[in-house]
Amino acid sequence: MSNIPAVALNDGSTIPQLGFGVYQIAPADTAGAVRKALEIGYRHIDTAQMYGNEQGVGQAIRDAGLDRSEVYVTSKLNNSNHEPEAARRSFDATLQALGTDHVDLFLIHWPLPTRYGGDFVSTWNVLEEFAADGRARSIGVSNFQPAHLEALARGSRTVPAVNQIEAHPYYANDEVRAYGLQHGIVTEAWAPIAQGRVLADPTVTAIAARLGRTPAQVVLRWHLQRGDVVFPKSVSPARMRENSELFDFALDGQTMADISALDRGVAGRLGPDPDTFDWVPG
Ligand code: NAD
Repeated sequence: MSNIPAVALNDGSTIPQLGFGVYQIAPADTAGAVRKALEIGYRHIDTAQMYGNEQGVGQAIRDAGLDRSEVYVTSKLNNSNHEPEAARRSFDATLQALGTDHVDLFLIHWPLPTRYGGDFVSTWNVLEEFAADGRARSIGVSNFQPAHLEALARGSRTVPAVNQIEAHPYYANDEVRAYGLQHGIVTEAWAPIAQGRVLADPTVTAIAARLGRTPAQVVLRWHLQRGDVVFPKSVSPARMRENSELFDFALDGQTMADISALDRGVAGRLGPDPDTFDWVPG
């Protein structure tokens, strides 16, 4: 896995295009799963305050005997911590849980435009502080729609390095991706294999059979060729390995188009609508 491409970010940093996501991995199981992923060769871990498992991520990196600089770590702000003081406190807690003095990337997890008086810009301004003092090497957002990104552009000079959004063959999310492309914001695709739902699609299984690859590999390869960053999640070592074997084959233009044609628009979306999602942990 030494051949994972590095994607350039607008702040001069780079991010490994393939990583390992830890959403819904129980805190007690996280160190073991991440240790396995690191053993297989993953060097980019995507966690979040709301996943409750940052500590296990930090533990695994130490257990693996890797230098902190060898692993790219992302975390994200809890929906309950958007107010500036809460954001600062919780960022300190993130670094403490990870046992590190910096994260490579820190994101606003959801814009929550119907909460906090619709003000996610002052939250963004707090993330700019973390970037300025070097404790977040890069900062970005997640689940931001173009209108939310426009609001940031009006209230800040810092363009987010990434926007992490739901994207997979059933929900290509191309409008938000196009905004990112125009403004130098890298797209990270969450739920890249639609949490497994796209793997039995006849178009995908036919392509997989023709190429002698698995459905997950075909779909992940489609994302990579679109230029997006992905971090599929699995607790099974065999699937972790499968999901990492993506760099010795390519999809031709027609095959890319056939997968892109599976897009169902918002009908294919699995997660909530970022314009109305307002959930805050109790
Ligand atoms: P995913 O698309 O990565 O699917 C994960 C599920 O698919 C696993 O639980 C497993 O059951 C199955 N799977 C994995 N590999 C497989 C394989 N090779 N063959 C068959 N089945 C396989 O979904 P996800 O975990 O929701 O998304 C990936 C990561 O994105 C998360 O872990 C998290 O880091 C991030 N994420 C971010 C947000 C956000 O709001 N920013 C939301 C959801 C997920």
